[in-house]
Amino acid sequence: MLTGPKACTNRVQELAQRKELIDFLGHLSAKDPNYEIHMPVLLMPNRCNNKKAILQELSSFHPQCLLLQGLVDLGTPSPTVDGKMITYQSCRSQDGSVIKEGLSLAYINRENEVEIGLFKRGYLLLLEKQRKSLITVEKGHIQTTSFLGCPIVHFMNETDVVPLHIVLSYVPLVHHCGHSHCTIREGRTTIRVEQEDKDVYRRFVVHNMNHAVKVYVVNV
Ligand SMILES: [Zn+2]
Repeated sequence: MLTGPKACTNRVQELAQRKELIDFLGHLSAKDPNYEIHMPVLLMPNRCNNKKAILQELSSFHPQCLLLQGLVDLGTPSPTVDGKMITYQSCRSQDGSVIKEGLSLAYINRENEVEIGLFKRGYLLLLEKQRKSLITVEKGHIQTTSFLGCPIVHFMNETDVVPLHIVLSYVPLVHHCGHSHCTIREGRTTIRVEQEDKDVYRRFVVHNMNHAVKVYVVNV
């Protein structure tokens, strides 16, 4: 049971040190000054220059909080994962499409808005008789700007933990090549046509992924 913010924080920190959870969400830096705080788990007051405290959602920066939020969203009664955890590499969305690692998907966030993410990995949690599924995604930021009428999405290497049942569908995304200055090359490549390998001369795009922000266009 959740006994109080402090106990809860300790419990989640303890949990986050378990090997399968470190594999799940990565290491938390021990140098992080917020690591030792004993504040309510999901909200932290942050004082800005004029000394006014603003409540910040910790989930955005703390892997343990992401996990906890994921468990809370699943409706688990306490932040414990005493059962088994099994990973999987592709998931099925509500509309039945199969989404493999790196593919983009749409899901509904806690504010009931549609979000876009890139599927990273799925985790099946076996808690006593319950089976719950969480997935990790690279979180996309849908921009207010668009390109040829198609929404633009930015990816900044942020992780989100999402219950599988809120994943709606696959979303076709294309790289915003003009924005990223991708180059076109020409050369010979082998393609398979009617069970035969054919050598063809063709032009292909070499995507430039060396940007802190990866920019994609939703192909609607
Ligand atoms: Zn490109």
